[in-house]
Amino acid sequence: MQSQTLVPFSINARPDSLKDTNFDLIVIGGGVTGCGIALDAASRGLKTLLLEKEDFAAGTSSKSTKLIHGGLRYLKQFEIGLVRETGTERAIVHQLAPHLVLPEKMLLPLIEDGTYGKLATSFGLKVYDVLAGVKGKDKRRMLNRNEALSEEPLLNDDILKGAGFYAEYRTDDARLTIELVKTAVRYGAQAMNYTKVVDFVYNDAGKVEGVVCEDQHSGEEWTAKAKQVVSAAGPWVDKMRKIDESLEGKRLHLTKGVHVVVPNEKLPIKHSVYFDVPDGRMMFAIPRGKVTYIGTTDTTYEGDLNRVVATYEDAKYLIEAVNQAFPTIELTVDDLISNWAGLRPLIHEDGKSPSELSRKDEIFTSDTGLISIAGGKLTGYRKMAQRIVDIVLRKRDDLPYKNCFTKTIALTPDSFKDSVEVADYIESLSDRLEEMELTDYHAWYLTTIYGKQAEQILVRYEEEDSSLDADVRLQLAEVWFTTHYESVQSLSDFFVRRTGRLYFDIHSIAPAKDLVANTMQTYLGWDDTRLVKEQETLQILVHDATHYYEEELV
Ligand code: FAD
Repeated sequence: MQSQTLVPFSINARPDSLKDTNFDLIVIGGGVTGCGIALDAASRGLKTLLLEKEDFAAGTSSKSTKLIHGGLRYLKQFEIGLVRETGTERAIVHQLAPHLVLPEKMLLPLIEDGTYGKLATSFGLKVYDVLAGVKGKDKRRMLNRNEALSEEPLLNDDILKGAGFYAEYRTDDARLTIELVKTAVRYGAQAMNYTKVVDFVYNDAGKVEGVVCEDQHSGEEWTAKAKQVVSAAGPWVDKMRKIDESLEGKRLHLTKGVHVVVPNEKLPIKHSVYFDVPDGRMMFAIPRGKVTYIGTTDTTYEGDLNRVVATYEDAKYLIEAVNQAFPTIELTVDDLISNWAGLRPLIHEDGKSPSELSRKDEIFTSDTGLISIAGGKLTGYRKMAQRIVDIVLRKRDDLPYKNCFTKTIALTPDSFKDSVEVADYIESLSDRLEEMELTDYHAWYLTTIYGKQAEQILVRYEEEDSSLDADVRLQLAEVWFTTHYESVQSLSDFFVRRTGRLYFDIHSIAPAKDLVANTMQTYLGWDDTRLVKEQETLQILVHDATHYYEEELV
């Protein structure tokens, strides 16, 4: 496994240094797909520029169920190829970032008249294990009713018949995306957040040879040129195809997925549970740190792409489903402490409902040469990136062909070898943190968010004001790290995508937000107007994460 050292990645390349560069590849979109492509391309020696209109992972790649999974339900739809690819990828992505892609046992309760019968589940999970190459103690086990209840006593024992117990992986989608882009930068890619592509540049033959971008803070426009442009703009892919005047044939069908978050005490499950919903769908309840999150919905979406919110209807649907699976918890909307809503950029198929649409990725090449990629899964990002870069290299004989080797590129410097090393590190960190007034939770949090990069944050922690509350002091150290090494440019970058605090530790924001804002102002040189704007934006985000709207925003 190749590992490298951390490089500063703050406000990275700026227009002046880019205007005269002729790139091999420009990637539009800093979600997991675009960042994966940037890493694949840069590591194969392509001069690569990645442009993201907001923050890295600000689109779908921070709003998923955060599972690196083979997609059991796709087996039911006979998408064998998809299950095999994502199944194999799980193990690879785990090895690339063992602190970030953690093994997670999943319980699949079998209930009367449920989606999966006992025999079908036993067979299906076995096929799933074989397709995904699962070995040893991770192989699926079938549990009888009593065994299932002893694993999860809160399950509905009136209808429970048993359970399947199988292996998946849990991740943090936004952190995975940021580590990907950081690694791409270590391999020489240029990557810029808050830089929107507003138009394409064409040569005399009508082929795309660059993009016009707009700095989202200053409004300044500039042009960047490249031999090839790839759009990995997720839900915005058709908007880019429209600008390119190539929106014909297959189109996106966006579906919205909402997750709600409750404190652990409200749904104290030991494992992730994949349970039946009355309307025939399936849903996840996933414990993580102090909370459990529940999701997801799947409804056709036609509202504002830039501000997707949870409605009261979404919350009601999720609450009814979880109360049916765990009848004693009696969850109400007042128990929800946070939520997120994201869009699946799926490919439209006539006559199919949102849940029936394929999750396979699709690549479109327009007459102008613009390559667009949409659909797919977080889990399959590496293979999607490989396919795109293979296409680019085969198309351009002025670029030397080199095989993909991202399978061997660790996603953080000084990476862990495996989960055992991760667990040992958390344990040893817990002991050290006690002396620093931090808790076991912080040891788990720092390790699963930053890996061994936690060490730099802890050195900085010692330099911050010791009279502060320990968690606030830690947040200031994290602000230092993320502004210097992770291109944080706003309060929402910090609270939502680098630390996940808005979703998983929302109560930690209020005591720290003013100090965090002032510290960020110093590091990033904001004037007071910008500071106020940032604070207002954060307020809106907190509102959206804790509020349920009557209808979608348009
Ligand atoms: P995005 O993450 O949306 O990235 C596209 C980026 O392009 C955005 O950041 C956007 O700002 C940027 N952009 C758009 N226009 C421009 C422009 N003009 N200029 C510059 N930048 C631009 N997959 C799994 O494997 N496991 C799961 O558990 C899972 N759960 C899911 C649950 C839900 C509710 C949803 C919605 C999806 C889930 N997925 C899951 C799927 C997975 O999240 C997506 O496939 C993946 O995140 C898509 O990434 P992307 O990079 O293609 O799109």
